[in-house]
Amino acid sequence: MTRTGRAVVYPAPNAPFEIREYPVRDARENEVLVKIAMSTICRSDIHSYEGRRPNPCPGILGHEIIGVIEQIGDGVREDLRGDPLAAGDRITWTEYFADGPSYYRDVHDMPQKAPGLRKYGHDHVDDDPHFLGGFADYCYILPGTGILKLPEVLSDEEATPLNCGVATMISVTEAAAIAVGETVVVQGLGLLGIYGCAIAKARGAARVIGLDAVPARRRSGSGPISRST
Ligand SMILES: [Zn+2]
Repeated sequence: MTRTGRAVVYPAPNAPFEIREYPVRDARENEVLVKIAMSTICRSDIHSYEGRRPNPCPGILGHEIIGVIEQIGDGVREDLRGDPLAAGDRITWTEYFADGPSYYRDVHDMPQKAPGLRKYGHDHVDDDPHFLGGFADYCYILPGTGILKLPEVLSDEEATPLNCGVATMISVTEAAAIAVGETVVVQGLGLLGIYGCAIAKARGAARVIGLDAVPARRRSGSGPISRST
């Protein structure tokens, strides 16, 4: 009997979500089948839902995803660090994937600019393998995706935003070259701004100043920042 899994489908902008079932097939060569443990609602998911950015419909939103490997296809042996992968491992993976050689990825270390790039949470649900977004029971990790095994020290809640929100702010703080003892001003204390404050402290900034025009963010912002110091 064919196994199925559930997906929360985004049928069209501003339309109610629909729970649908799709077949779950075996992982093919260079694929990984993951049982999803957690997915966030990223701000860009909300933008997609509101029709403020193009996104295929019907589809499965959610691209900050973690899960446990259920089945590994032939050819998948290790993660981005070179650690061996096996069924039962808890993993995260890159938000985007592009199969085959790529000048931008292989020469310029810019995989996000590779031709033919696709993204999890940005694909048609009607097409095989159906499960390519976070709001579902399963996700197929397709060839060209970078996989990272998660250490036990990270909770699901801490690990799930790593591949989008945290990765964005790691990139920003690296580009800003924040050094030990510096003063850093972060404008905007949404989730990315809060990550920026914490990462700036972790890089050795002596003083981090957060600015936001929204009073509620100024009040709630002091919690996570003070905990990170
Ligand atoms: Zn995101």
